[in-house]
Amino acid sequence: MIREIRARTLLSRVRGMDTWFGLDFGMNLYRGCQHHCIYCDFRSECYGNDRFDEDVLVKANAVEVLRDELRRKRARGIVGTGAMNDPYMPLEAEARLAAGALQAIAEFGFGVLVITKSTLVLRDIPLFQKIARQSTAAVSLTVTTVDDELARVVEPGAPPASERLRALRELAQAGIEARVALMPVLPYLEDSWENVEAIVERAAACGVRAIVASFGLTMRGRQRDYFYRRLDESFPGLRVRYEESYGERYICASPDAARLHERFVALCAARGIQTSVSPLLAPSATEPDLFGWPA
Ligand code: SF4
Repeated sequence: MIREIRARTLLSRVRGMDTWFGLDFGMNLYRGCQHHCIYCDFRSECYGNDRFDEDVLVKANAVEVLRDELRRKRARGIVGTGAMNDPYMPLEAEARLAAGALQAIAEFGFGVLVITKSTLVLRDIPLFQKIARQSTAAVSLTVTTVDDELARVVEPGAPPASERLRALRELAQAGIEARVALMPVLPYLEDSWENVEAIVERAAACGVRAIVASFGLTMRGRQRDYFYRRLDESFPGLRVRYEESYGERYICASPDAARLHERFVALCAARGIQTSVSPLLAPSATEPDLFGWPA
């Protein structure tokens, strides 16, 4: 069900340094998401959204609230969106909250990073160009596999991976900073070097400037249960491998994470692509300050 709600506040300051995406502020225009990725962390109990897959709440006054908050900020910065839902999920085509937010961001001189899996973001290229004339305007498309069939199973509501890659090319050609979020990389499904290499090579060919990667996923509570149910439907027997490998662990790195990381960094360097690796792989990170799996 799609339902309208009213937001009291929208922008939240990103605490400390955001080493993943370089954001100063985060915002959510919606609650819930129509993309239904089987691994989505935002099904976890800690987010208090019992009906993540059933209901999408539209913050009908979001643009108005955002304008008011941007007007009152003393320092400008980069506003990010796309962490807990996809701002370009299908209903954005009519709701146009992302478009309204970009217009406000442009008017008040802020920068933006949108994280999405949707090609609908191309609709707003003129708004990104307007922002780019005075600040950062970046779009990060999430690509976890180059296999459209696999993407259809693990990210059933999102456009095919090949279309996302085409969108990256269009963004780069329009002068927008195009990035890739290569995460999560699902163990035993997406963590082959062939897959990672293909994503990097295709991203490079599309003019992508940066890739942030995380070779693994997170699992907990209700989200783990949901993920395992979807694995049982589409990949019978795979759940047992996950259970044996990870038990109750939250941070579930690919068994091949270190090798993938090393080769990924070397290949990106050779292609002139900047890299950033999530705290999941930092040796000291037992409790990473997760920004969340990008949309
Ligand atoms: S991972 Fe992102 S796009 Fe997928 S369901 Fe979650 S919020 Fe939506």
